[in-house]
Amino acid sequence: MTEKLVEIKDLEISFGEGHKKFVAVKNANFFINKGETFSLVGESGSGKTTIGRAIIGLNDTSAGDILYKGEKINGKISREKSRELIRKIQMIFQDPAASLNERATVDYIISEGLHNFKLYENEEDRQNKVREMMTEVGLLAEHLTRFPHEFSGGQRQRIGIARALVMHPELVIADEPISALDVSVRAQVLNLLKQLQKELGLTYLFIAHDLSVVRFISDRIAVIHKGIIVEVAETEELFKHPIHPYTRSLLSAVPIPDPILERQKKLVVYSQDQHDYSVDKPEMVEIKPGHYVWCNKAELEQYKKDYL
Ligand code: ATP
Repeated sequence: MTEKLVEIKDLEISFGEGHKKFVAVKNANFFINKGETFSLVGESGSGKTTIGRAIIGLNDTSAGDILYKGEKINGKISREKSRELIRKIQMIFQDPAASLNERATVDYIISEGLHNFKLYENEEDRQNKVREMMTEVGLLAEHLTRFPHEFSGGQRQRIGIARALVMHPELVIADEPISALDVSVRAQVLNLLKQLQKELGLTYLFIAHDLSVVRFISDRIAVIHKGIIVEVAETEELFKHPIHPYTRSLLSAVPIPDPILERQKKLVVYSQDQHDYSVDKPEMVEIKPGHYVWCNKAELEQYKKDYL
């Protein structure tokens, strides 16, 4: 039986109030299974980071539920629960240069969470934990007294990974962890994340704007457009049988390595105006086992005819 670690139910996240209210995420529905890599993909400003931040409690939610192991974690929760979640859910950020304290040594950066949660017995134990983590992410333990600027971009991201994983989290939210890195080191960091996942039994929520990046690391993918999750499916299913017109449009933009095919390829243009939701309202529908699409009744019939 797969255990659902996170469940997002009819989630809405808004900023501001009254006529200034901006709804960044609406009617979001998905779940993340324990041990899997679940990716949230969509263009800039679609609400990916907003959802990630809501899961770790940094963004308030305006409707719906976020469940962690079946327990509601949005809205009012006890201080103890909140502390427990801060340890169990760790985040890795896009830009390691901006997210690491430039004036702190690597030793200090990696130890900070251990300090805050008193996760070591004595000084020797703390040092061992930090050294082990450095080695685990492929950095030299001798470099603990160095500062972030003395490392390359890829190495700085490894420090960010070490800082998150030293806490022994259950869920890691990786927000565009490779997009600020040189193309040459992106694969190394992805491979490292995959290897650590296997070793430590981690669950990943991976946030990215590029479908081709997440294809090789994700078990399942959710596609988000302007705050609405439009499709969720297993990775290969999504690539082979995309249904929602926005997913089809994103996939049509993925470059094909063959120059002839690349030149012949047709871009699918997507516009929200192609949906008529004035009367027949949309909802998340499981169109086939494990494959969910945001559509109304008329679209569902059409999609079934066209794609099933
Ligand atoms: P990117 O890939 O650029 O990080 P994203 O998909 O992660 O984009 P979000 O950062 O989640 O997008 O932003 C979604 C929308 O919510 C954007 O329109 C953004 O301007 C808005 N938004 C995010 N945080 C706030 C905030 N604190 N106050 C007001 N609006 C916000």
